[in-house]
Amino acid sequence: MIRVEGLSKTFADGFQALKDIDLTIRRGEIFALLGPNGAGKTTLISVICGLVNASQGRVLVDGHDNVLDYRAARQRIGLVPQELTNEAFVTVWDTVSFSRGLFGKPKDPAHIEKVLRALTLWEKRHNRLLELSGGMKRRVLIAKALAHEPDVLFLDEPTAGVDVELRREMWEVVRGLRDQGVTIILTTHYIEEAEEMADRIGVIRNGEIVLVENTHALMQQLGSKELTLHLHEAL
Ligand code: ADP
Repeated sequence: MIRVEGLSKTFADGFQALKDIDLTIRRGEIFALLGPNGAGKTTLISVICGLVNASQGRVLVDGHDNVLDYRAARQRIGLVPQELTNEAFVTVWDTVSFSRGLFGKPKDPAHIEKVLRALTLWEKRHNRLLELSGGMKRRVLIAKALAHEPDVLFLDEPTAGVDVELRREMWEVVRGLRDQGVTIILTTHYIEEAEEMADRIGVIRNGEIVLVENTHALMQQLGSKELTLHLHEAL
């Protein structure tokens, strides 16, 4: 689904945030990019999504180069940021349908309804965002990203700063989406989150991918305690 080849990023101040990254994301999987703060997770996602230019290398999204063929690549990507911006007075329905419009897609109320139902937001469609709980707001972020029918969903630290209960709720939501065929890439600095959710885990440290593992295979081979230790050492 996504191929990252020889990707490097050096910022204007000379800081190299990504170093020669090669990565393949398979269709239908949940891939967790695990790394400590400052490792380069957000930068890597931003470059893959075409929001930040790479200094070297290239990214193919479903065969489309994310620079040369930006629009086609971007259409296939849904990006879930950490926080809602200033849309407090807008309803859930309007927020999500507007998001579809931004991608130049024709209105499709049936699709918006499907997305809202999948995220158990249907009953709240007439509510303004400021009336929603923290968990519902996070689900609206996902609904917005799904509005234009992307094939792959990027979630940047989906459970940063949320309580344990909400974290579990988010895990359920994301697994449900994967089961419906959406390819998912998420960033996290929680080992537990990567282990719980991901089919494969990539560890990023100081801008380098230092390990990519199949979670299920390693869990069988090592057991969950040793897997955690193994990831902990890589971090
Ligand atoms: P993570 O998401 O893993 O916490 P980031 O990708 O946000 O890490 O940042 C990686 C590194 O790049 C950090 O050291 C950060 O300070 C640096 N960085 C991020 N954006 C810029 C920028 N625009 N200019 C210079 N350095 C940056």
